[in-house]
Amino acid sequence: MRRHSWITWLILLAGVFVVVETHPQIVPKVKNEIQTTSTKMQPYLFLIKSNIDKTISGTTTKTTNERQVGKVATPIEEPLKNMNTANTYYYHFKNNVPQNARQVFQNAIYSYNSTGIVRLIPQKAEPNQNNIIFFIYHKKIENITSSTVELGNGGPSALQLNNYAINSGRAGLNMTYPNMSVKNSVAMHELGHALGLGHSSYTNSVMYPIDQGVTKLSEADLNGLKKIYNH
Ligand SMILES: [Zn+2]
Repeated sequence: MRRHSWITWLILLAGVFVVVETHPQIVPKVKNEIQTTSTKMQPYLFLIKSNIDKTISGTTTKTTNERQVGKVATPIEEPLKNMNTANTYYYHFKNNVPQNARQVFQNAIYSYNSTGIVRLIPQKAEPNQNNIIFFIYHKKIENITSSTVELGNGGPSALQLNNYAINSGRAGLNMTYPNMSVKNSVAMHELGHALGLGHSSYTNSVMYPIDQGVTKLSEADLNGLKKIYNH
């Protein structure tokens, strides 16, 4: 009986060999099936979008006071355009952020939280949650003839899953010019970038690229936020 079943297996194995030898397309067919499956999986894989870092500048010359009215929305940064994303963010400060810089960021966080459109929570984020890091850096402007200096830097960075984005935002202040950069208006601007707002051409927007000392979100800024966070 034992010997008999051993022979049966041998015959079966030989049979499989014959089938594979005489039907070699069976192997490519299996290969094709695997390839098709992995192609179908493609849209479900995460794509990493590049980080957009935008800056704000300080200047000695005042620009014309062009004010925005009506239902215009402040532009939205590319990684969050036409994307769904959670309105809850978990944030933390880099260890070297001094108290004065923390304070202006805290004021900005309070202002954005007061809109009811986003919710920023001081806690470490899970990998699938929106998060923001606040930081400082030093950057000296070499060209002294330039009337503008960089005061801050920030932007969103999104992991996208179909039309859903997980945003890792950054907001930083240039501590080479603390008298100009450690300001509520600059913190509002950089946090705006981290949350997905782009530059506005209106001087009453916190997202105007040259610091105007604006600390209150304009109607267009609020409209931009509402667009991003589906309000
Ligand atoms: Zn900017």
